[in-house]
Amino acid sequence: MMRKYFMYVALLGSPLLAAQNKVGETSAYQQNWMSLEKENEALAFDADIQLSDAELRLDKKLFQIRKQFLDEAEKQKTPVYNLSFNEIKPLIESSKLFKIIRTMPKGGLLHTHSGGVTDMKWVVATARKYKECYVFDQKDNKDFIFGQLAFFEKGKVPKGFANLDKKLASDAHFEKELLESLTLKRDNLCSYNDYWIEFEKRFKRISLLLPYRPFFKEYYLKGFQDLIKDKVQHVEIRYVFDELYDFQHGKYPVKTSITDLQDIVKEIRKSDPQFSLKLIYSSFKFLDPDAIEKQLEMAFQLKKEFPDMISGFDLVADEAAGNSVNSFQKNWATLNELKKKYGVELPLFLHAGESNSIFNKNILDIALLNNERIGHGLNLIYFPKTMELVRKQGRLVEVSPISNQILGYVSDLRNHPARVLLSNGIQCSINSDDPSVYGYEGLSYDFWVAFVYWELNVKSLKKLVFNSIDYSSMNESEKKQAVDYLNKEWNSFVEKSNLALN
Ligand SMILES: [Zn+2]
Repeated sequence: MMRKYFMYVALLGSPLLAAQNKVGETSAYQQNWMSLEKENEALAFDADIQLSDAELRLDKKLFQIRKQFLDEAEKQKTPVYNLSFNEIKPLIESSKLFKIIRTMPKGGLLHTHSGGVTDMKWVVATARKYKECYVFDQKDNKDFIFGQLAFFEKGKVPKGFANLDKKLASDAHFEKELLESLTLKRDNLCSYNDYWIEFEKRFKRISLLLPYRPFFKEYYLKGFQDLIKDKVQHVEIRYVFDELYDFQHGKYPVKTSITDLQDIVKEIRKSDPQFSLKLIYSSFKFLDPDAIEKQLEMAFQLKKEFPDMISGFDLVADEAAGNSVNSFQKNWATLNELKKKYGVELPLFLHAGESNSIFNKNILDIALLNNERIGHGLNLIYFPKTMELVRKQGRLVEVSPISNQILGYVSDLRNHPARVLLSNGIQCSINSDDPSVYGYEGLSYDFWVAFVYWELNVKSLKKLVFNSIDYSSMNESEKKQAVDYLNKEWNSFVEKSNLALN
């Protein structure tokens, strides 16, 4: 028996010794596992953030609140990962998390567009107060499309337009129909072949409305007030310049929109002195280099005249349909000359990589140009060398999660490319792109979506919020003031939330 045991030990080792070895091995394995986890964390975009005890307390609470939300959704069999934003919107609004995120200071909104800022319900309700406002209520023709809004003098109303107020008063269904034509929802999109054609129609419908000077002033005042209510302190608009007009004066010079916006900001600052605004001169990717040459001259002229208002230059519109960033090489080559000629710098803020395709190579140009921030950058993850350059050059990707879902680039938001960027140390900020067209206001929805679907924590939220000021185009002294304000707001948010969630 004994022999048998020794034989066993000789062949297989003592059971006791084996167990001891196993513990040792597991521990080394576990140590490696933990150091690998740390090494991964050290590469993340928010690795430099150290949370205070109060922030850590809030972090635990928010983690629990998200867990409760997801557990409840599971219990109710609500497929939260497979719903479009429009479907999940009521659920977001009734969630405890949304109430907290609404009170969170968001810093700056770095990526939004003229025409995409203000709530469409408000647009319709306000437009109808103008007796000179009309709506095109016929089938699309070569000049106008159904739902297009415009102002006309009496006697000069084109065929097919009805007075907006009268139309809304006489046809009970029309308001709903009109609002549907002004907003874009993913659940409707399934029946469209091209999201962008529908998307751009929304802008066409208000394109004659916005340049009407009295309406213009109301529109931006309301848009900024909504953002302030949602705790946004700074806004940068991709701005497509248009001549404002009214019927007393006719057309105004382009710069009137800038001086009017300055007046609106001045007015807002009386009650919210922290609020600031910058405009990014935006033209279109579907224009040719000769047209862009003129646009760049114009942008430099405006920047020279309004250095505190104009921050840079961008080209917008569907990247799949428009010209590549690379095809404007000739234009980019003139930037240095223009800089000398006007004595001001005009950095680029290009939309690039708003695409799922590797054949769209717009992102390659970014690392070669003086491009401070990247709009969307969704396909950046497929170009690892460029991703590394973008990280090393310290550029920021402006991420707009809800927009990306509505325009069909991402379905299940857990699979948003920004998660890859964040874990690889690429700096990002959260943006809303065109909330009015997507049927919501403010920035809270995008933060909610990012927090829930990307499993963020207070550390990553804080970094995203502060990035939006750090990477803004404010000058150093404006930035310092903005960061001071944000710090105070952030600390008070943490303190108040901790108290409220006790
Ligand atoms: Zn955009």
